[in-house]
Amino acid sequence: MIESPLLEKLTGYIGGRWTDNEHGNTFDVYNPATGKVIAQVASMSEDEVNAAVASGKSALRLTSPYSIETRRKWLEDIRDALKANKEEVGRILCMEHGKPLQEAQGEVDYAAGFFDYCSKHIQALDAHTIPEKPKDCTWTVHYRPIGVTGLITPWNFPIGMIAKKLSAALAAGCPSVIKPASETPLTMIALFSLMDKHTDIPDGMVNLVMGKASVIGKVLCESPDVPMLSFTGSTEVGRKLIVDTADQVKKLALELGGNAPFIVFDDADLDAAADNLIANKFRGGGQTCVCANRIFVHEKVADAFGEKLAERVNKMTVGDGINGDVDLGPLINQAGYDKVKRHVQDALEKGATLVAGKKPEDLGNDLFFPPTVVHGVNRDMYCYQEETFGPLVPMALFRTEEEVIEAGNDTEFGLASYVFTNDAERAQRVAAGLRFGHCGWNTGTGPTPEAPFGGMKASGIGREGGLEGLFEFVEAQTVPRGF
Ligand code: ADP
Repeated sequence: MIESPLLEKLTGYIGGRWTDNEHGNTFDVYNPATGKVIAQVASMSEDEVNAAVASGKSALRLTSPYSIETRRKWLEDIRDALKANKEEVGRILCMEHGKPLQEAQGEVDYAAGFFDYCSKHIQALDAHTIPEKPKDCTWTVHYRPIGVTGLITPWNFPIGMIAKKLSAALAAGCPSVIKPASETPLTMIALFSLMDKHTDIPDGMVNLVMGKASVIGKVLCESPDVPMLSFTGSTEVGRKLIVDTADQVKKLALELGGNAPFIVFDDADLDAAADNLIANKFRGGGQTCVCANRIFVHEKVADAFGEKLAERVNKMTVGDGINGDVDLGPLINQAGYDKVKRHVQDALEKGATLVAGKKPEDLGNDLFFPPTVVHGVNRDMYCYQEETFGPLVPMALFRTEEEVIEAGNDTEFGLASYVFTNDAERAQRVAAGLRFGHCGWNTGTGPTPEAPFGGMKASGIGREGGLEGLFEFVEAQTVPRGF
């Protein structure tokens, strides 16, 4: 079992207090590197989730709002607490998610960056008077907190994803009811321990509920006291939330699946492209929605690029992330592992060739999937159609710019994309043609606190990060003043 000063309680947190879990229902949390149970965490009832919403409602202040200075202090205090406890939070994250320790600790820094960004830009949420005087009135625009928000996060960035949502919600003055994924609730509990000990956030502003998604989702979708949900996860669940909240016309911020194209032109710096692809593709074990999923390589450089990839991939180490110097940890669970295996098997059966990695029949019985590269992929293969969410690099060929833009867009998703070329004009054309919220030019880097990030098409609604993200949790209210 995991021991940590940040995990003294393994229950929910409602109205400024840890819940007592009187009914005794729990669920198990596993370390994917060892397969062992490391904690048993309270699974909350519908009544408890309702209590969390009620407690959020009691903390919402409309007529005497929390000042900008007060809200800035909450954000700064969370940032500082995360930075001061980066090693321990990162250790907990590593043990429940499996990503290498350094990467896990880096995620804590990344999370602190969102609180920092919002604290520095919160003034943008102050009211302002517009210079024009339509209808002979003086118009003031106020940014009101939308109300109690449900924040639902996935397991692939146990601290990063909540940081994006919570920083903007607190900046807006919105209370929240937070639900982490059941695979990774411990990092969230650690965050609540830090907020409990190191901040003056009022009781009821932040509430933690864990357990059955169906029970928690139902309350959050049906309660008229929750006017907004911010969700990161699968497109399938995102669609369900749209349907389940349609009656009340709730505001939804959705960051859903991706199927990122990574395009390498024949004039690109192939070493830089290969280095960037490795860093991008194997982050979090390949289990991120911005990981390159379809690698389109110009036919003139495909063999050379494949060799560069194989050379790098063959040097990668796979193992328990807690041991420090590994490049790749385990996949999150058996279902995740089986999906990657199915994608590799399907691609090989349909004519792709294995450039690096193991054949499906040679794989072991744990959750450690070797980094794998296949060549000769086409649109009939699962790995082209679906997000693999694992350490598989599927390469496909292309000949022309028009053809590769069309192929890149040949998916219902539109989250991240990447283009490698030394021709600036071509890069601008390709970026504009790709219907993706993010298009890296000669870089495989993902979202940062300073820039808006989000999806087009079935990859979602809304943006996180940047000023756009800061404004997600407010309602603009205009107050024209007549004389
Ligand atoms: P993933 O495939 O990354 O696990 P999911 O969409 O299944 O993505 O889950 C993302 C988050 O949404 C998790 O916290 C999960 O528990 C939660 N979730 C799943 N189903 C629902 C639902 N019906 N209502 C609310 N939250 C849900």
